[in-house]
Amino acid sequence: MQDGIFYIQARRCLRCGRLLTSKEAVERGYGCQCAAKAKKAEEAAKPIPGQIELFDLIPGEQEE
Ligand SMILES: [Zn+2]
Repeated sequence: MQDGIFYIQARRCLRCGRLLTSKEAVERGYGCQCAAKAKKAEEAAKPIPGQIELFDLIPGEQEE
């Protein structure tokens, strides 16, 4: 190994394509801005607690 040369893990953000170099970001696949946005989008996609699921109203087979 030559002096002054080192390697870091890096990857592109899955959302915006920015180069990620921090360990957390590389593991996550998103930069910190995009991780927050992705998390928000994920939460927005979840059903609201207390909301009646459509499947609750339909008797019959349910796929789990
Ligand atoms: Zn990003």
